Amino acid sequence: SNIIAIVGRPNVGKSTLFNRLTKSKSAIVEEMSGVTRDRIYGVSEWNGRAFSVIDTGGYVRGSDDIFESEIRKQVEIAIEEANAIIFVSDVTVGITDLDESVAAILRKAKKPVFVVANKVDNATRANDAFEFFNYGLGDVYNLSSINGSGTGELLDDLVKVFKDDVDEEESDVPRISIVGKPNVGKSSFINAITGEQRNIVTDISGTTRDSIDTDFKLFGFDFKLVDTAGIRKKNKVHEDIEYYSVIRSVRSIEYSDVCVLMIDATEGLQKQDLNIFYIIEKNKKGVVLLVNKWDLIEDKSPEYVKEYEDKLREDLAPFNNVPIIFTSTISKQRLHRALEKTMEVYANRMQKIPTSELNNFLQDVIERSPPPSVKGKFIKIKFVTQLPTHSPSFALFCNLPQYIRDDYKRFIENKLRQRFNFEGVPIRIFFRKK
Ligand code: GDP
Repeated sequence: SNIIAIVGRPNVGKSTLFNRLTKSKSAIVEEMSGVTRDRIYGVSEWNGRAFSVIDTGGYVRGSDDIFESEIRKQVEIAIEEANAIIFVSDVTVGITDLDESVAAILRKAKKPVFVVANKVDNATRANDAFEFFNYGLGDVYNLSSINGSGTGELLDDLVKVFKDDVDEEESDVPRISIVGKPNVGKSSFINAITGEQRNIVTDISGTTRDSIDTDFKLFGFDFKLVDTAGIRKKNKVHEDIEYYSVIRSVRSIEYSDVCVLMIDATEGLQKQDLNIFYIIEKNKKGVVLLVNKWDLIEDKSPEYVKEYEDKLREDLAPFNNVPIIFTSTISKQRLHRALEKTMEVYANRMQKIPTSELNNFLQDVIERSPPPSVKGKFIKIKFVTQLPTHSPSFALFCNLPQYIRDDYKRFIENKLRQRFNFEGVPIRIFFRKK
């Protein structure tokens, strides 16, 4: 898939542009899960082409005293991970030293760069924007965050450099990735499950050179372990900054069917972990949460386990139904269970529910608890069907879809989850006009 990174020094308007490009209907859910504030990842679509957007300024937003070395790292990571880069400058300020050092790195990059002059709110500003041709990075796109002008022109040209999407092709073998912050135990996990029984069938390249998948046959399970540049750790220098592990996991997540998200039991679920979880949800991939290094937790009483798990579920809300497994790669606890659960989630995500079964079940649910009528109008849901998408989604046909509220959507989702096994699988529900 195609990834766009937004780079630039602080306060030039990167996040405004990011928000404009990724405005999503699920903003409510994002707010509920507490990720809106430092959102650094979003998905967008233009002319029918879907793409991901990463705001590289995510964790230093609003701060002026940022070191050049920090900016340099952000830009280098962006160049490594993205297919194209949007370089934002502020027309009201002009070219600063920091801007120029970003431009210097970008001039050497072998990725398409789009220079954006932000805050071009009037004709005078448009004149000032010519200055940015001095970067030597080609055309300058004038944008105004205030009136929103210019985004269309930018996106028109942006989608032209996209590669064809090949990653969504069907695979009859589950594609799995192990994601998480540095040092939570991802490599140890992979070594532990593959070490004993090193049974790599083949070492084939993925469909693009971004991803090298290795085929495994372990404990009777066939699967592909997705290995992208970001996971391969060819570049250890950036690993000290946890934020980068979030960016680095994006492509792996997009290439996977199920993501094994690993966290450190001694640290609990932190902001970076939640950000990675959010990217998995956003991409509608299956997920299994591994709480690793469980050997370091002294209190192993059922009460404490329950308390720990309850806290996790609270933090993951409103995303419920995520399998949680407490593992240790050192004492080899529940590693097989983790793999087994991953396969289960894959099967849950693949299931296609017959239309008759779906209607028999849901018509009954709806009859007992119909959507509340609005302004004296009754909402009638007539028919339900599962859509032929990669991840489970359902369309409910009714007379007045615009009056269905989010809480009713969640009610239907919960009912579906109770009746069918969608553990670890994001599901989508659409109400459509019949
Ligand atoms: P990665 O960066 O996520 O791949 O993490 P590594 O697999 O390199 O592990 C980071 C550190 O955590 C190493 O020192 C491991 O020995 C240690 N580690 C990994 N898994 C466990 C575990 O289950 N328990 C304990 N106590 N340490 C672990």
